[in-house]
Amino acid sequence: MLSKTEQLARPQGVLVLKKGREKPLINRHPWIFSGAIDRIEGDPTPGDAVSVITRNGDFIGLAGWNPASQITGRMMTWEDRLLDDEFWEEAIAQSIGRRQWLDLEPETTGYRLINGESDGIPGLIVDKYDRYLVFQCLTKVIDVRKHQIIEHLKALTFQGQSPLAIVERSDASVRKLEGLPQIAEVVFGEIPEGGVWFKENQLSFKVDLVKGHKSGFYLDQRDNRALLGLESLVKDKDVLNCFAYTGGFSAYAAKANAKSVTSVDTSVPSLTLAEENVQKNSPDRPQDEYLAGNVFDVLRHYQEENVQFDVIVLDPPKFAHSAKDIKKATRGYRDINLLGMSLLKPGGTLLTFSCSGLISADLFQKVVFGAAVDAGRQATVLKQLNQSNDHVVSLHFPEGHYLKGLMLEIR
Ligand code: SAH
Repeated sequence: MLSKTEQLARPQGVLVLKKGREKPLINRHPWIFSGAIDRIEGDPTPGDAVSVITRNGDFIGLAGWNPASQITGRMMTWEDRLLDDEFWEEAIAQSIGRRQWLDLEPETTGYRLINGESDGIPGLIVDKYDRYLVFQCLTKVIDVRKHQIIEHLKALTFQGQSPLAIVERSDASVRKLEGLPQIAEVVFGEIPEGGVWFKENQLSFKVDLVKGHKSGFYLDQRDNRALLGLESLVKDKDVLNCFAYTGGFSAYAAKANAKSVTSVDTSVPSLTLAEENVQKNSPDRPQDEYLAGNVFDVLRHYQEENVQFDVIVLDPPKFAHSAKDIKKATRGYRDINLLGMSLLKPGGTLLTFSCSGLISADLFQKVVFGAAVDAGRQATVLKQLNQSNDHVVSLHFPEGHYLKGLMLEIR
């Protein structure tokens, strides 16, 4: 009898592709859509590995199989090998190693270690915060192997010293598309009651690893937040941080001696933590404001009152969740950017973002251009912005580049 792990390592069936549907896979795009599958041979269970072959019988690689999902197969390897302990150890070690050149520690102790498809491990996201790990299983294939993966993570992080705790944040909505339940819990060790502190570019931030958004913090904005830490940009300036969440951008601006920092978000608990984060790094700042409200309303109110700012950050949540949302999303981006630009003093700076993977950098730039025209303002691109480099993008999986932004001078 094979053990569960040995069984999961072996292909339990064969996925035969429809004629002509092999090209993207041969080019190493990892997704096999249900419509590309001719038939399944054998009797695999959802989450099992299957061999992937063309209609002519040519071997392509091994995929994880989940018939409940539109993305029925996820390529795990293009080699003829098993998904055994050696495979997982190698894949996880490679992902962690891929970030070593960034040399983030000790100034930054919170960042992404494994970025799913972009790191060649579809469905697995792992972030570290100080001595804690947070992982997300976004696919059935990863879900059924999570205990095995956790053991490898423990062995391969913190120089083999165990993390203090591991939190599972398998509560992303995409899990529903895989027929999986929502899970957010500590699976190993313990986390401190009041939250976990970590460092980002030498600033301290507190995160709620179990209830916070994503894995607790928007680690993908690290490099862009650092721009607000430049005194040359924000010293003695009035800064408005829209969609502030727990005050990431605000803390940098305060630390760089902005004259005032106003943080706006609908979530009161997020703003409470934002204030704590700002004060931890810059203790004496009575001039800052934390406004609970809808950004669209707050900006319109400022417009009516003729309130103006030197620097504005617009980092809204994802507006486009599926292709049918794109039109509505572009309208949202246009409106918010139009409002933002109208509140900037001449020569002011706008940092504007879209984290919708479905809105390309090109389209986003067009939408922001339209907003500038409608606002009657002249905009100059000072810098193109992207997700931080620990959120790697595979050239074979351009979908992995989801966060884009522009730093603009507005006249
Ligand atoms: N810039 C943040 C991350 C922003 S996440 C950082 O660097 O950490 C998006 C935030 O927008 C969430 O905190 C959410 O509560 C808030 N939000 C969503 N819709 C909103 C709206 N209409 N008005 C104000 N805040 C909103």
